[in-house]
Amino acid sequence: MSCQLVKAIIENSIVVSAIESKQIVNKAIRVHNLSPVAAVAMGRALTMAALMGKEFKNAQDYLTVTIDGGGPLGKITVCADGKGHVKGDVINPQCETLLKQDGTLDIGAAVGKNGSITVIKDIGLKQPYVGMSKLVSGEIASDFAYYFAKSEQQPCGVTLGVGLNKKSCKSAGGVFVQVMPNCREDILFRVETVMYAMDEMSYQFDGSTAEEVIMRFFGEFNPVITERSEVTYKCDCGKRKINRLIKGLGKAEAEQILAEQGQIEVCCHFCGKKYVYDKQATEKLFTK
Ligand SMILES: [Zn+2]
Repeated sequence: MSCQLVKAIIENSIVVSAIESKQIVNKAIRVHNLSPVAAVAMGRALTMAALMGKEFKNAQDYLTVTIDGGGPLGKITVCADGKGHVKGDVINPQCETLLKQDGTLDIGAAVGKNGSITVIKDIGLKQPYVGMSKLVSGEIASDFAYYFAKSEQQPCGVTLGVGLNKKSCKSAGGVFVQVMPNCREDILFRVETVMYAMDEMSYQFDGSTAEEVIMRFFGEFNPVITERSEVTYKCDCGKRKINRLIKGLGKAEAEQILAEQGQIEVCCHFCGKKYVYDKQATEKLFTK
């Protein structure tokens, strides 16, 4: 099940990306059995990872974002590659419901704001790019916007929304607006005015495609659609990765686990898939 992502350009100087991300969020809810606050926080982070992953030029480019705010939800990790795949993990997926005074979910309190957001981009260079900034609200969208302004010196607007229907996602999506250096002041001012009016993003994506949301808000600027693509929640774990992990334990440690538990069981944090190695399979790994 994939989600549609659309990119458009305005006046040759502002790039608008939008994704309708309900399926991604629902997959995350199923994989991790997320509580409501966990679903919204992780859903927003995954939606942003999907938007950021679309900036990559190559399929093997890879992005990892960690949001660690010191709140009861614990650290959120989301990853995206250049192939249109995202995945995520959170320390406390069953985090209790926290409410604001108006009765809505308090995502900032669940994530916490005493911490940082870290972005690692591996685009095949010798060293991966690492950027970091402090969290401003724990509400995710404003934290990403602050990160781009501070760490990547990229003025941008980020708006993310996840709406729930009991335990599943009813609607979700996000819009990412990047301003290029050649942008005229009057255009920037008008686009900022539009961005301020974009609240409750989950409603905007309820029954609407990414393209419809772009046209609804930015239609007056005659945006030119430059890309339509798909993003899916898909884990890239596999036998080879897990083999490497077990080899990394070292022979002595692996044998000790076998002696104590009869087998070595590895469960992927991102998709829940189980990998089981019996004595024979483990020996084979270390004799190869
Ligand atoms: Zn996996």
